[in-house]
Amino acid sequence: MQSSRSHPSVLADVTLPDGRRADVFLRDGLVASVQERAPYGGTPDETAAGDGRVDLGGALLLPAFVDGHSHLDKTFLGAAWQPHAEGGTIRERVGAELRARRRLTVPVTERALRLVHRMVEHGTGHTRSHVDIDPEAGLDNLHAVLDVRERVRDLMTVQIVAFPQSGVVTAPGVPDLLDAALREGADLVGGLDPHGFDGDVAGQLDVVFGLAERHGAGVDIHLHDPGEIGAEQLRDIAARTAALGLDGRVTVSHAYCLGEVADATLARTASALAAAGVSILTNGPAGSMPPVLRLREAGVRVFAGSDNIRDAWWPYGTGDMLERATIIGLRSELMTDDELRVAASLVTTEAAGALGLERYGLEPGSRADLVAVAAASVAEAVAAHPRRLLVMRAGRVLVTDGCPVAGLPAPEPGVQRAW
Ligand SMILES: [Zn+2]
Repeated sequence: MQSSRSHPSVLADVTLPDGRRADVFLRDGLVASVQERAPYGGTPDETAAGDGRVDLGGALLLPAFVDGHSHLDKTFLGAAWQPHAEGGTIRERVGAELRARRRLTVPVTERALRLVHRMVEHGTGHTRSHVDIDPEAGLDNLHAVLDVRERVRDLMTVQIVAFPQSGVVTAPGVPDLLDAALREGADLVGGLDPHGFDGDVAGQLDVVFGLAERHGAGVDIHLHDPGEIGAEQLRDIAARTAALGLDGRVTVSHAYCLGEVADATLARTASALAAAGVSILTNGPAGSMPPVLRLREAGVRVFAGSDNIRDAWWPYGTGDMLERATIIGLRSELMTDDELRVAASLVTTEAAGALGLERYGLEPGSRADLVAVAAASVAEAVAAHPRRLLVMRAGRVLVTDGCPVAGLPAPEPGVQRAW
C-alpha cells in the first residue's frame, strides 16, 4: 500500500533549473506534468489542497544527481578509520591498497552499502562504479558489488565497470577475468594507463576494445599518463572507438594530460575525441585536470564523478555531487551564472548522457528520480552546495531534509557506524 506521504502526487512551488516556479505532478513513478505557477504567488487549482502534496516553498528541483565515477568496492566507510599510506607511483599506490584491503575485516558488501546510502542521502540516483578485477581478488569484488546493485535497486542505479586495477597484460589471467566479468553482469570494460602501467599501449587496448566488441560493452579507461604520452593514447582510443562504431559509449576518466599539453595538441586531441564521441570524466583533482570549457567548446562531452571516497587512494570524499560541482567549479575558475550552470550539468544531464540513462530529467514522462535543494537557483546550488530537502526515487520519497524516511535499510548489525 502506497501512502501519500511516501508517494506524493504533487511537488508544489518548486523552482525549475530555468528559474520558473512550477508545480510538478507525479504519477506511477514518473513526472506526469509540469505546470508553471502564475507570478506573484498564484496557485493552480489542482494544487490547492489535498493528500499527497509536498510544498517546497520555492526550493530548486533537479533530476537526481549522477556520480559518473565511483569505486564502491574500495571505500573504508563502515570500517575503522584507516590512515593514508603514502606511495608515489600508481603501481606503489596499488600495492599499498592491496595491503590495506587485506587488513579489512568488514566485507565489501557492507562497506559498499554504506557508501550507497551516503550517496543517496546527498541526492545521487545513479552511479557508474569501477570494480577491481585483479589476480588476487579474481571476481570477488564483482560478485559483492553485483549483490549490492541488486539490494539497492530501489535506491540507486549502479553501472559496473570491470576495472583492471593491477593492469591487463602485465597481470596474469586478467584478460580472461575481464571476459568472465562481462559475462557475469559487468556493463563496461575498464583499462588503466596502457603506457604507464602496462608499458604496452597496443597490447592493453587490443584486449579492452576486443572485449568491448565481443560483448557489445562500453569502455571506461583510467588514464593518468601525462602530457604528450597521455594525449597520444587519447587519440589512439578515439581512433579505436570510431573504428568499432562505439560513438557515445567510450569514456576516458581523468585524462590529466589534457591540462598539460600545448594548445595545438589540445585542439587536435579534443577534435579527435569529439569526432569519435569519446567522453571525458573528471573529479576536479589536485594537480592538472582537463580544461572543462575548452573541451565543451570543441564538442567533447565532459562529466563528473567522485572517484575515490574515503579509501586507500584518498582520505577525502563525501559522495555529495553538488560539492563535487563546487570543487570542479573552483578548480576550473567557473564564476558566471552560465559557468556555474555548466558545473551543475556535469553532475546531472551531461553525466546522464554519458551513462546512457533513459527517462532522465524533469520533462513529463521522465522517471521521478528527483532532488530538491535549499537554493533558489542552479548557480546558488553550485556555489553553496546546501542541504537536500527531498530525495525521491521513482516517485518514492527516500530522504526529507537530510533524514531518511523510507527505504534506507538500517546499518548491518555489528558494523561500526562511520560518520
Ligand atoms: Zn577511479
